[in-house]
Formats: sequence, structure tokens, C-alpha cells
Amino acid sequence: MMKNFLISLILLLIYSCQSTKSENNIAIVIHGGAGTILKENMTTEVESAYLNKLEEAVQTGYEILKNGGSSQSAVDETIKIMEDSPLFNAGIGAALTNEETASLDASFMEGKNLNAGAIAGSKYIKNPISAAISVMEDSPHVLLSSDGADEFAIKMGLDTVPNSYFITERRLNSVRKAKKDDMFSFEYSYINDSKYGTVGCVAIDKMGNISSGTSTGGTTNKKWGRIGDVPIIGAGTYANNDCCGISTTGWGEHFIRNVVAYDIAAQIIYNDKGIKEASINSLDKVMKTGGDGGVIGLDNKGNISMEFNTAGMYRASIDKNGNLTVKIYSD
Ligand code: ASP
Repeated sequence: MMKNFLISLILLLIYSCQSTKSENNIAIVIHGGAGTILKENMTTEVESAYLNKLEEAVQTGYEILKNGGSSQSAVDETIKIMEDSPLFNAGIGAALTNEETASLDASFMEGKNLNAGAIAGSKYIKNPISAAISVMEDSPHVLLSSDGADEFAIKMGLDTVPNSYFITERRLNSVRKAKKDDMFSFEYSYINDSKYGTVGCVAIDKMGNISSGTSTGGTTNKKWGRIGDVPIIGAGTYANNDCCGISTTGWGEHFIRNVVAYDIAAQIIYNDKGIKEASINSLDKVMKTGGDGGVIGLDNKGNISMEFNTAGMYRASIDKNGNLTVKIYSD
């Protein structure tokens, strides 16, 4: 009798310790792209617009986590807010191709079971992040591309829009200038457009599950069906409850070559590195091959990192103690 009572007491203690631990660990981090983002090139209005939108997005995801929602739905809803804003290079306001059209990439990964989904080169999906989640949940595949991705989204009943919905004047001017200067996508983004603008989100929920998602229009003046790192699991997005979740932004070719998102995870798993140190190491590798950009992530204890080797990165987070950070420039 006494023995049973003691066992029940111990089990109750273990359970309450676990739930307190995971409740304390909810955290969320987002980015809205990295690049040569300098205060002197920014008006107060534009700066406030970015800060407000980043805050709205991160608070939306945090509320979901606080109310016991999954990291999957936090990432989905948070990224949708940024996709629906013309400020970022994702959804409406995406960077345009050489044909002056939008071609959208997105990916999503779930850390509890390593399930993942992605779309590349979509022309009509209003919220590419939701389509990436649907590929993961409703198909046996990981990555669907171009017309197939659009057909799949229609079949799944996701919102689709005409391609013109995504096109903004600012991006049209950008691509026309790039075409005039005959600059390829990344050269143009790198030298003139000077910021990338992809969006991403990583969250950990009360159950300790990590999810990561990334969404982009890619690079200005891209040709030949160019696809960057964003829909490549392990390059632009990675999540694994054993270590961390990661989302990247930057010169995609270099993030693919350095397998950045997984490289950070591997350093944590195999080399016991902290998430910040691992992120800095991987960005150093990107720099060595000639690229630049940024990464956001959090580990399975809810520690957040937001690193970049560009002048700035649109970013925000709410950490495991509930502290909000919203920043643009380097510290
Ligand atoms: N990484 C994206 C790409 O290369 C661009 C970005 O981050 O804005 O497609």
C-alpha cells in the first residue's frame, strides 16, 4: 500500500517537473531577411513598418504557443503574416524572375519525427508555407515543384491567386534595373538590391516539439527555373528535437553548398557546440565560399540565436522567459 503510494507520488512529481520544464521552454524566433540594411538608407516610416510587422508576426506565434498550440501552427501562422506583407521577399512582394513573374519556394520541417515538406517554383499559391506543410501531411513526398506544386495546392483546397497578386512596383523596378544592368540574381541582390528578404520562423512548443519554416521569392532576376536553398531541407530549413531548429536567409547557392541548416544541427549533435557558436561557424563557411546571409534558430532547451554576417537582418524573438526582441541592424 505504502509502496504504491510512494510510486504514485514519484510519478506525479516527475510529471509535474516535466510539464513545468516544457512550459517554461516555449520560445519563437523569426527573420525577415538579411543584407546590407543600413540605418542611413532607411526612413523612420519604413523602419517602423518593419519593426511593427516583425512584432505582430512573432507575437502571433507566441500566443499560439502560450495557449498550448503546436510549434507547427505557430510557424505556419507567423510566416503567413510575413508572406501577406509586401515588406518581405515572400508571398506578396516577392523578388521577381527575369520574366517579371513571381516564383515561390518554401519549406517546413517538424523536429519530433523529421517529417518535412517543400514547394519550389510555384506561381499561384497564396501562402507557400501552408503548401509546404500540406506536402508533408497530405502527400508521400518531400518536395514538389512548379506546375505540379500548384496543381497539388489546388487539389488540397489551398488558396491560389493570379501571379499578378504577388507583383509590387518596388520589385518590378528592381528586376527591370537588374535586367538593364544585365546582372544575374545573386549578383544583383548582393551588390545593388542589398538585402535578401526571405522570411523564416522556428518555434518550440509546450510539448518540447520544434518546427522550422522558411519562405521566399528567391533572388531578383533569377532565370532558368533557378531554385535556392529555401526549399532544400538541410540547407534552408532543418528541425530535429534532438538538437534544434534552423531557418536561413542569404545567398542561397552558398547555403546549399555548405548545407547550412544541417551543418549547424550536426555541430550540436556530434560536437556538443552551443547553437550560437554552431551558427557562427556555419556562417564562416558560407563566407569562405564567397556568400553571405544570416541564420536564426533555437535549441531544444529554448535557447535562441540570431546570427548574420551582413550589415543587418530583420529579426525578432520571444525567449523562454517571455522577453521580446525586435531588431534590424547589427548590435
Ligand atoms: N536564400 C534565398 C535564395 O537564395 C534568398 C533570400 O534569403 O532572400 O533563394
